[in-house]
Amino acid sequence: MTTKSLSILGSTGSIGKQSLDVCRKCGYSVKALTAFSSVNEIEKQAREFKPEKVALVDEKAASDLKQRLSDTGIKVLSGIDGVCECAQLESADTVLNSIVGMAGLKPTLSAIRAGKKIALANKETLVAGGQLVMNEAKKYGVDILPVDSEHSAIFQCLQGKPANKALKKIILTASGGPFFSKTADELKNVTVENALKHPNWSMGAKITIDSATMMNKGLELIEAVWLFSVRPQDIDIVIHRESIVHSAVEYDDNSVIAQLGLPDMRIPIQYALTYPERFESPVEELSLSKIGKLTFFEPDYDTFKCINICKNAITKGGLFTAAVNSANEQANLMFRQGKIGFLDIAEKVQEVFECTPYYDEYTFEDVMEIDKFARESVMR
Ligand code: NAD
Ligand code: MG
Repeated sequence: MTTKSLSILGSTGSIGKQSLDVCRKCGYSVKALTAFSSVNEIEKQAREFKPEKVALVDEKAASDLKQRLSDTGIKVLSGIDGVCECAQLESADTVLNSIVGMAGLKPTLSAIRAGKKIALANKETLVAGGQLVMNEAKKYGVDILPVDSEHSAIFQCLQGKPANKALKKIILTASGGPFFSKTADELKNVTVENALKHPNWSMGAKITIDSATMMNKGLELIEAVWLFSVRPQDIDIVIHRESIVHSAVEYDDNSVIAQLGLPDMRIPIQYALTYPERFESPVEELSLSKIGKLTFFEPDYDTFKCINICKNAITKGGLFTAAVNSANEQANLMFRQGKIGFLDIAEKVQEVFECTPYYDEYTFEDVMEIDKFARESVMR
């Protein structure tokens, strides 16, 4: 079902702003906007898009926004419950979730229970609560459409898949980030500034650090397991420095189908909204002859340990993925605050993985409890 009207959660972030750009170009009606505390940005967005509701998680920022928007008739909500209310709005058929971190899980569940189509950028939703989310999506008959570029690529490659065949393999591409080909020794003293210099994509700070540690690829492997019902061992990761091949699938006849394009998130954002249709895009055309050369390498799993921690976590199941995700959120933040070194991130995530208890099935409250446990362990 092609989107007509939507709520955008995390509208002031990198994906949120690019989503609004797509809405401008495609003429979608924006019914709700939410953010953590960015009053100036969300006020500007609210005045342009005239949504019914906006929400800020931070109470003080929300009360400031309420005053600023008092001449507009837009309802201002606060707290995570305000965000969840925006996710359930009657007038929106789609919820685009571009919140960063597992804070996006509760609003995703709210949107599913309200029967909304989900355009999901917030990969941590699936990493922290994949079992809950997929069960609820099935129960409420809701589609989850990937916004993450690799998963959008895989989803696009799967269009036309023979109904009687499972796919053989997913080939998940990774740029390799700013530290490709560096040794552990060379990574010991890298600074936040070095780690924030991504070669191909301009993104929020958390995911940019995740790309430097390659935790991002581990999170994406878990995301792919949930979205495409494959086993972790059916996903191959390959470093592709140019970020032109956004991922590929392999069928039983060893035919490999890939999706290519310039690295611009507005292509996957738009496809999640227009699916199954396609419309013109403001993104430039890809010229393969201008690109000239595409390169591929095996990842260095010994130096970038986070990939295998994530693979082990999803293989074990239960709350292991939630635990490593929360440990990473905390460690990633502490690295950005200058409190720990770059290589400590993977160390901390591994430590939490090793002391996570096994659960067969879990509830939302269990995820919240393991989140608290993981963050406290990393801070200790
Ligand atoms: P960002 O930091 O630029 O923006 C995050 C948004 O979430 C902001 O609007 C912020 O106000 C809001 N937010 C932050 N903390 C919150 C909380 N606790 N509760 C509610 N809202 C909160 O992040 P981003 O780079 O746009 O990434 C968003 C999500 O999309 C992440 O899950 C990321 O992994 C995924 N993603 C991003 C890109 C990209 O190109 N930026 C690509 C693929 C996937
Ligand atoms: Mg990605």
